[in-house]
Amino acid sequence: MSIVQRTSLHAIPAYKQGATPGAGQQAFKLSSNENPYPPLDSVTGGLAAELGAINQYPNAAAPQLVGALAARLGVEPDTIALGAGSVEVAGQLIHATANPGDEVVFAWRSFEAYPILTHVAGATPVAVPLDARGAHDLPAMAEAITERTALVFICNPNNPTGTVVDTAAVDAFMAKVPARVLVVIDEAYVHFNTEPGSAIGLDFFRRYPNVAVLHTFSKAYGLAGLRIGYAVAPPEVAANLRKTAVPFGVTALAQRAAVLSLEHEGELQVRIDNLVAARETLLATLRDAGINATDSQANFIWISTGEDTGAVDAALRASGIWARAFPGEGIRISIGSAEANETIATALISALQEAPAHV
Ligand code: PMP
Repeated sequence: MSIVQRTSLHAIPAYKQGATPGAGQQAFKLSSNENPYPPLDSVTGGLAAELGAINQYPNAAAPQLVGALAARLGVEPDTIALGAGSVEVAGQLIHATANPGDEVVFAWRSFEAYPILTHVAGATPVAVPLDARGAHDLPAMAEAITERTALVFICNPNNPTGTVVDTAAVDAFMAKVPARVLVVIDEAYVHFNTEPGSAIGLDFFRRYPNVAVLHTFSKAYGLAGLRIGYAVAPPEVAANLRKTAVPFGVTALAQRAAVLSLEHEGELQVRIDNLVAARETLLATLRDAGINATDSQANFIWISTGEDTGAVDAALRASGIWARAFPGEGIRISIGSAEANETIATALISALQEAPAHV
């Protein structure tokens, strides 16, 4: 007799991690939007005390980090809620707002955890197609809101297309959103966003009572392996996020590394600037070769390769580039080291010349 299991899990795909090259294989892993730089010495050098205390539970209230974030962002400490990566906080946001069967609206394609987390929370995902540019269709997302809607995610910049929504478009959207619906602006890639007109999550958080912002230390701060992210949310929402959090999910090591990263933001900014410059150089090189690459404000680029995605991905792999392919849609490639970026350009140009629909 088989073990009783939750039937609705059949409908849920497992979260798919970016592919990793085999051991000993000379290749660039550019499938998970990780920071190509090693951790800062000024961060790892300050973790020894925490390492010596891993026999103890962390302080779940994380007072030093919450204090540092509140000061850095200019918000009250009670608006901050932490999680083991912002993906955990995204799940907390759904658990904290959606009753069973309530709807969670997001753009599609976007961060692939949104539909999974929504299903797992017992809520109903409502995926609204991106527009032809690969950007959020905010008017269509506003149309998709019903009396069952509990939460809306706006992913800005969007993973995987790298597009952004501008301030005026989000203001027009907010004018149509009922005040009882929480709008979450997921800014996992905000540090790489240099678009002057882009909506800025904290600005919306300050101006609207039903907005929360999601940030992570995984990307620009290079702490993906330590798992730490946070929301800035209205205090009553933040309190409920803490209730839905995995107890002690954020380790003392992660808390300390995050505090040290905030203290060394100047060093991190140099790296961020380099990655942004590398993104623009890569996009310019591809466009010079006639390739239709989408503008990106994140630490990755997106090429909509459609039906040729499998072939282009195979050609990239043959050149040592492990990207993230979405069959039938396109390929997302993280910005890597200078050597990786040169290899991407050469490999993409030759692969796409074999697939002339995209040049
Ligand atoms: N939001 C978006 C848009 C992402 O792309 C990711 C990571 N892929 C996350 C949230 C979660 O990142 P983390 O859990 O590492 O903070």
